[in-house]
Amino acid sequence: MQAGLSGADLENARRILPRYVGAGPRYTSYPTVPVWQDAFAEADHRRALAETGRQREISLYTHVPFCRSLCHFCACNRIITRDPALPQRFLDAIERELETTHTAIGGVPRGVQLHWGGGTPTHLEPGQIERLFRATTDRFPLAAGAEVSIEVDPRVTRPDHVAALVECGFNRISMGVQDTEPATQAAIHRIQPFEQTRDLTELVRARGIERVSFDLVYGLPHQTDVTMGRTLDAVLSLAPDRIALYAYAHVTWVAKQQRGFERGDLPGPDLRMRILSTAIERLTAAGYRAVGMDHFARPDDELCRALDEGTLRRNFMGYTTQDGIDVVAFGPTAISELSGTYVQAEKDLATWQGLVLAGRLATARGHRLTREDEKRRAIIRDVMCQGALRATAIDARFGGDFARDFAPALGRLRSFEDDGLVRLGVGGDVDVTPLGRLFLRNIAMVFDAYLDDFGDGVVNGKTSAKAGTFSQTV
Ligand code: SF4
Repeated sequence: MQAGLSGADLENARRILPRYVGAGPRYTSYPTVPVWQDAFAEADHRRALAETGRQREISLYTHVPFCRSLCHFCACNRIITRDPALPQRFLDAIERELETTHTAIGGVPRGVQLHWGGGTPTHLEPGQIERLFRATTDRFPLAAGAEVSIEVDPRVTRPDHVAALVECGFNRISMGVQDTEPATQAAIHRIQPFEQTRDLTELVRARGIERVSFDLVYGLPHQTDVTMGRTLDAVLSLAPDRIALYAYAHVTWVAKQQRGFERGDLPGPDLRMRILSTAIERLTAAGYRAVGMDHFARPDDELCRALDEGTLRRNFMGYTTQDGIDVVAFGPTAISELSGTYVQAEKDLATWQGLVLAGRLATARGHRLTREDEKRRAIIRDVMCQGALRATAIDARFGGDFARDFAPALGRLRSFEDDGLVRLGVGGDVDVTPLGRLFLRNIAMVFDAYLDDFGDGVVNGKTSAKAGTFSQTV
């Protein structure tokens, strides 16, 4: 799946866009979170962790929920605070959670990946960062060569934070940038002069952390293809290894502050498409490869290698090279991906804290995948990661006859083929075209067995789910 969009593709994209604008999942999991059951209990969670204990390797994720101020576009689970007592209590609680989880897992799989997200992990003080890192790796030792990464906010990350990260052994930094334009920064309540991003990038590299990624968002207030071009010029001058270009999700039922955006300030679907296609053109011209739905990486980056080797995976951390590795997650709202089971922790900080300090697992909901779920997850991952489906590979792995079993879905894809989004081969093979890259979520939705529970499913080639559950697909 390559970018390679032609002018004719873009013209075509504008023409067909109205048929595909609608709500739909981002497929960081399948089945998606609304399908999971609240009745999934702590005992189920413990059983799943015990299964993970039989694995040799795991990935560790910690959610640090605190931020100093609210960015108005943000729909993450975060707590805005300047109260120093909150992170302190959080650390006490997470140490108990690490201990309880370690006991439940039983074995000692090695950590091949560790990632801290949020919120803002560098909201923690440097000493707190070292404490959390030690508490994690004392119980779950990291393998040599493990990827150790963290999301940082340049507005709050100081040189002594960087020193602590180096001391711990972090080797990848993912920096929140979003957009460099003053009008957009003002509208989203996130003033971040470019010099802050530049200085922090130079500092972490000088201290030996060479792998730096930037997170950008398209579809924000006042953005146009022209302003996106300027943002890209700025960040490309720092030569990041990767750029994640996320679609702004207007989900006011989750993030009420987004209602403050005048709808007139937000680019409409046509302009969003132009912004995205400008970004794809600009990034590929600069030598980056498009990876999956929203990542761009230098050709020598591990993500590109995983793409070429067919081992690229998508999970709650985005695109990852850790194929088939369980994710054990810590912190409020954190999502674990255990052997065949998804589990999410309690969202409310006080509830989560109360449970874990009492030696419990703060299980909020979960889902044990059926064989059919696993098959559809593999199909949706192939679409979202590789942009291609091979019927023989699916049949070899799961049995059955893909072309026969998925005849209704393949039938729906014929109108996508007419629109130039996919090529359908004999035997049920599907290849996403460069134009189809812009509509990956719509293509994946065709294979989702649960969408009808959330809306009108697939109608006349248009896949859509009920508003109030998912964000816009394009
Ligand atoms: S964008 Fe990042 S820093 Fe801003 S509120 Fe969301 S999590 Fe916090």
